[in-house]
Amino acid sequence: MSLDKTIDKTINEVSVVIPVYNEQDSLPALLERTLAACRQLSQRWEIILVDDGSDDASAEILTAAAQAEDSAIIAVLLNRNYGQHAAIMAGFNQARGDLVITLDADLQNPPEEIPRLVAVAQQGYDVVGTIRTNRQDSLFRKIASGMVNRMIQKVTGRAMGDYGCMLRAYRRHIIEAMLNCHERSTFIPILANTFARRTTEIQVRHAEREFGESKYSFMSLINLMYDLLTCLTTTPLRLLSVVGSIIAISGFMLATMLIALRLLLGPVWAANGVFTLFALLFMFIGAQFVGMGLLGEYIGRIYNDVRARPRYFIQRVVTAARTKNDHNNKE
Ligand code: UDP
Ligand code: MG
Repeated sequence: MSLDKTIDKTINEVSVVIPVYNEQDSLPALLERTLAACRQLSQRWEIILVDDGSDDASAEILTAAAQAEDSAIIAVLLNRNYGQHAAIMAGFNQARGDLVITLDADLQNPPEEIPRLVAVAQQGYDVVGTIRTNRQDSLFRKIASGMVNRMIQKVTGRAMGDYGCMLRAYRRHIIEAMLNCHERSTFIPILANTFARRTTEIQVRHAEREFGESKYSFMSLINLMYDLLTCLTTTPLRLLSVVGSIIAISGFMLATMLIALRLLLGPVWAANGVFTLFALLFMFIGAQFVGMGLLGEYIGRIYNDVRARPRYFIQRVVTAARTKNDHNNKE
């Protein structure tokens, strides 16, 4: 309870960040529905739409919407396609709000949920995630996403059920922390969670994509999965050592068994040395893997240093007002 007093729960301004890539058909409805949802907020608000190098008329539609008189829409146009998460980061860079909400432009995430997200965040959460109750995606996507979510939960030990849904709310200090991460490829919901203390999830509706196709092909989904994995952990590098040790130990056990059998059963046994060769081979392959794992450990550390994530983030420094006679200020 006393913990709650340390944070400032007030939200004065809400920023909505939406990445857009070839979504010209969804945009009119998206703008209308998002504006209507934001008008229900009691806070100040802004809507930031990031055009991620679209080939269709998306950029023109966004520019026109932003240039309209008294428009609360800000259009950020990227010069080429950088991917959804890079586009959202570009939006974060422009956002001024104490709370930033992300959602997809294809209307799969209903903008009507925005006031609910704000209300929940106001209870003092750093990150509000969402679970899609009636997810409208292909069976393949649902199964893959289920597996990935379980993997993340295992690695992080954090009980968030759905990392794939981009309808999320982040507090200002989480946004600042993410903007201070210098890695190129990232997966925002996971990155945010590495800095969040109080997280929660609410259930939201999910709609089918009405216009166009998903912007993720099979290959880009695989790419996204690697971004997610490397954003999360360097454990796979360590697995090399583990696998290597297992192979080397099996080789050693095989060799011991061969020696014992050779002594017991005589020289005819062991297929003229073929088994012995295998035993030796296993030991060498195992040793190689262990070596690669060791290299991996170094690479993992280099990777962590190169992406230079902030080591910690101070939320607030509390001091008694300093006076001239402060005991630290002795002449
Ligand atoms: N998107 C983007 N850049 C890309 C791919 C996607 O900005 O390179 C946007 C896209 O316009 C949409 C959101 O990211 O607003 C999610 O994309 P999509 O709906 O295709 O993904 P899915 O729902 O299939 O996961
Ligand atoms: Mg979608």
